Amino acid sequence: MWFRRPKDQAARPGRISAKLLIWCSIATIVGFSAVCGSVMFDMRRGEQALALQTMENLATTIDSDISRNVELYDLSLRNVASNMVEPELAGISKRLLHLILFDHAATAKHFGTIQVFDAAGNLLHDSGTFDATPENRADEDYFRVHRDNSDAGLFIDRPGQYRGAYSVVLSRRITGKDGAFLGAVVGSLRFSYFHDLFGRLTLAPQDVIAVLRHDGVVIMRTPFDLDVIGKDLGQGHGVQRLFVEQSGSFSGSGAVDPIDRLYTWRDSSRPLVVVVGKSWTDIFAIWRRQAFRVGGIMLALIAFVTGATMIIVREIKRRERAEDKLEGLATTDALTGLRNRRKFDQVIVQEWLRAHRCQEPLALLMIDADHFKTYNDMFGHQAGDQLLVRIAGSIAGAAQRSGDCAARYGGEEFAVLLSGLSVDAALAVGENIRTNVEMLSADKWATTVSIGVASIVPNASLQPTDLVEAADKALYEAKSRGRNQSVATQRENLSRVA
Ligand code: GH3
Ligand code: MG
Ligand code: MG
Repeated sequence: MWFRRPKDQAARPGRISAKLLIWCSIATIVGFSAVCGSVMFDMRRGEQALALQTMENLATTIDSDISRNVELYDLSLRNVASNMVEPELAGISKRLLHLILFDHAATAKHFGTIQVFDAAGNLLHDSGTFDATPENRADEDYFRVHRDNSDAGLFIDRPGQYRGAYSVVLSRRITGKDGAFLGAVVGSLRFSYFHDLFGRLTLAPQDVIAVLRHDGVVIMRTPFDLDVIGKDLGQGHGVQRLFVEQSGSFSGSGAVDPIDRLYTWRDSSRPLVVVVGKSWTDIFAIWRRQAFRVGGIMLALIAFVTGATMIIVREIKRRERAEDKLEGLATTDALTGLRNRRKFDQVIVQEWLRAHRCQEPLALLMIDADHFKTYNDMFGHQAGDQLLVRIAGSIAGAAQRSGDCAARYGGEEFAVLLSGLSVDAALAVGENIRTNVEMLSADKWATTVSIGVASIVPNASLQPTDLVEAADKALYEAKSRGRNQSVATQRENLSRVA
């Protein structure tokens, strides 16, 4: 380009927009929150998966321990049941029969004595004594079930008091060679076994371990509650799944208490199912603490970013206002309130470029107060100032369009840029100003101005100074022709500058 765009006409590159800052802060806050939210969500899922894995392992361990012990005891019961039908044992002594029938399993810590009942329910043998007191158990479930079913297998009775200790009674049928019912072998597994087993585990207060029979009867539960033991939970919502599927998990509040838990179960040793439950509160205890901590830090960060943004936005706005005010002061003529010379020099370049782009004319009026020195001499400098203010008012009144720019060019000289006006239209505006100024005249003084008018459609070989020069020449012409008149630049003059 043939001349440089004035420096402060460009958009202020150093100025950070308050809106941009606010959007950046919002994006930062939303971004951080999304990242934190996603991390916390992953952690939550991880905690749940870990809890489930731990519970499954626990259920498997307990299940296999119970399985092993029940199987061991069942072996003893089966041994008694099969030996009872051996014809060779018919005539031998009671002492020898005891040694053959009962192995040492029945003497283990948590196992009760094994008793043998005949088909009528009368006690025949008791592993604990040679002289058992006669008793009849024909009405007990553990007896009746075998009498009425040939294929009941190992029967596990409802838990309760049995021979002076809380136990679970286990029984097997004695079947003759011909399939006839010959009686039942009955043993018991004491509660102390379960207490001992569960006591070795480290459990949270709301953890639950339950051992259920296949019809839903609670055989044992920790935390221990005698009222719950023996209760039938088989009708509870969704409980049937436990007895159909070998393992699995579900969430819900238990049938015994209203605590929401995650449950998992194992069922390798039919007819017992082990269910392990952990409250959601416990599962997410560590996660919740972390979520509160991270959430707290996030909230503090958000508050800090918001606060800092607000402070910076306020500061930016304050500075913007101050800059605008300073710019106003720097571009306004203090006496007349019109644009000053500095501003005029910027605007003429700006308007020149725009007119060049649009191939429109740009007109300029150069206005000079006539005989102003004389006025000053006659009425004083102060009065001269006041007249200049009034002349400026007349000029401003005639240049009201948005592209117009009325400026004090220097001393008693003014310039008016009129974008898009031809020389004739600009001349008309000039005449309007001139007649308005004339009306300011007083008795002792005729206030007049001389106006030079020029209008150019910019092209590559012209510069804004050419327009000023042309209008200046026309002003000189107006002065030399006797003042108080508007003179437009002659075509020849223009073509010459062009
Ligand atoms: P002409 O008609 O040829 O323009 O005559 P003139 O007296 O107006 O022109 P000249 O250039 O001889 O004098 C300009 C005078 O304008 C000189 C100066 O005292 C006066 N003047 C310039 N600026 C100001 C100002 O801000 N206030 C006052 N009161 N007078 C000013
Ligand atoms: Mg003058
Ligand atoms: Mg002058």
